[in-house]
Amino acid sequence: MEAACTSSEALLQLRENVRAYWGYDSLRPLQQEAMECVLEGRDSLVVLPTGGGKSLCFQAPATCLPGVAVVVSPLISLMKDQVDSLLSCGVPAAYVNSTLSYQERSDVARRVRDGEIKLLYLAPERLVQPRTLEFLVAAKVSLIAIDEAHCISSWGHDFRPEYRQLALLKEVFPDVAIHAYTATATSRVRDDIAAQLHLREPKVLVGSFDRPNLFYRAQRQDGLMSQIRDVLDRHRDESGIIYCISRDKTESVSKTLNEAGYRTLPYHAGLTDQQRRDNQEAFIQEEIDTIVATVAFGMGIDKSNVRYVVHAGMPKSLEAYQQESGRAGRDSLEAECALFFSGSDFRIWQRIIEESTDESRGGALAALTAMYNYCTSVVCRHRAIVNHFGQAAPPACEQGCDVCQGDLDLVEEPLIVGQKILSSVVRQQQRYGAHYTALVLQGSQDGKILSNRHDQLSTYGLLSKETISTIRDWIEQLIGQNYLQRVGEHGVIQLTASGHSLLKGEETPLLLKPNRKTKSRSKAARPTGEKSWEGVDRPLFDELRALSRAKAREAGVPGWMIFNDAALRDMARRRPTTLEGFLQVKGVGRKKCQDFGDEFTSAIACYCREHGVEADLDSE
Ligand code: ADP
Repeated sequence: MEAACTSSEALLQLRENVRAYWGYDSLRPLQQEAMECVLEGRDSLVVLPTGGGKSLCFQAPATCLPGVAVVVSPLISLMKDQVDSLLSCGVPAAYVNSTLSYQERSDVARRVRDGEIKLLYLAPERLVQPRTLEFLVAAKVSLIAIDEAHCISSWGHDFRPEYRQLALLKEVFPDVAIHAYTATATSRVRDDIAAQLHLREPKVLVGSFDRPNLFYRAQRQDGLMSQIRDVLDRHRDESGIIYCISRDKTESVSKTLNEAGYRTLPYHAGLTDQQRRDNQEAFIQEEIDTIVATVAFGMGIDKSNVRYVVHAGMPKSLEAYQQESGRAGRDSLEAECALFFSGSDFRIWQRIIEESTDESRGGALAALTAMYNYCTSVVCRHRAIVNHFGQAAPPACEQGCDVCQGDLDLVEEPLIVGQKILSSVVRQQQRYGAHYTALVLQGSQDGKILSNRHDQLSTYGLLSKETISTIRDWIEQLIGQNYLQRVGEHGVIQLTASGHSLLKGEETPLLLKPNRKTKSRSKAARPTGEKSWEGVDRPLFDELRALSRAKAREAGVPGWMIFNDAALRDMARRRPTTLEGFLQVKGVGRKKCQDFGDEFTSAIACYCREHGVEADLDSE
């Protein structure tokens, strides 16, 4: 099909629908470009981080185009959430999966045939059945959207063989554009998706991997339970996830927290299916605040108001960390990602990887090292993450991480420590790796050092009071700040131009004290977010959130689905008492205004009267 230019009329209609159904006035980065591809019928591959707003990229255009949009989704729970959410906005949508009765399936088929349904969600294995394909060819398909498209690639972290069969879609629907969406960043996966789906000159849109609304901190474990409680105390009555490496740990952390009065439940593969479902449901319905889980938890959860993700142990890669921590703050409001690591986490993962027979062992060890370096580095966390994914650093994060907020406990004379390390590297003629250098500085009796006569160097034993792992951490920090670089396959370390300036005392590095703690717990207090609370009447927000949860329970949908935190804050800021004012709230479309407007505006009017608070503010 020839790609046509998006007419301004089509774009106007699109923006109008986004406003009318979803109540959004503006689009997130790349959403407009992605939507234009859909309107133009041009294949596309859209890579946006979790919370980037991928769904709207195909949902909104689907409401403008004739016919039904077919959406491929890997999990029944995801399908149900997406369809419930669309229905609550007034968009006619449906799914077909094994949970429906024969009668219900026939009913959906009839409504698709009659052109009533704008989006139809299917699992890949159902879509590729000959009967389904035949049915859809006869119906008019407006577009095909493939959600979680990385599942098609064996290079990705979540390969699903059934996705491979989607290769036949281009053959069966030669005139229908295919749009693939994923949060997985590597170019290998990206290329694989395009090739497997036989996309035709797809427009590839890759968003920034920075999540400016997330506050990152990484701290060495030092009284883990009290570190975790500090985070929970900063987020009373808010939802969060605590990830643990082992099943036993999830149980013990959950139990200890409950004994201290917190509301948590565990989640791991050792529980029965029923227990897992119940605990997940309790979290989604907000009957508890915190789920304490292994990495088995998360896929298919699109709860938008997760305000904190704690890692009570180090994940095995930055890819895993980005994905797990990325479950915080999908609604774009501030959220906290706290990682508490220890050297023993590194060793546990190392053992698991070394014992595996997997061919990719080398890659897994490199990924583990990158993760550990992230933990022990003193580079802005936002910068470290996006650089890892091959993107340029985002603008200064200012108060968006522990490093930039100045929370770290730093060595008092970093220049002297840095010079000791660098001069040892020079005296070793820049021919050895980080571990060897640490051994020299520590004054080790290692045979290789003695046979190289490096115990004769003036730098031998210069840092004898420190442990090997501390010196290793400092070397990594110097590499992270570009004073040293690793060269060649043996990882020999050498000085950079900045390293030479450091030796001359012209530049000073930042180095962490060995067992670092935050300077003061109160300073580490609140992740930034004051701005998003500006003008919000907090008690009114709490009241509206309770009302919204009650409405969700009545409707049998997740608590945040009726109004998410962003919409509730905007309501408690504008405090509308008329339906007209209510419709101005971000996240209130026509249908939600019709369904809930009277009740919410009455509650607001009543609250404002009782508390002498000004109502109907025009807070643009
Ligand atoms: P992703 O699939 O990329 O992880 P979602 O599609 O689930 O992200 O969107 C995350 C959240 O952001 C949802 O609550 C969604 O309604 C909201 N959202 C998406 N686009 C916009 C927008 N333009 N303005 C405001 N909120 C948006």
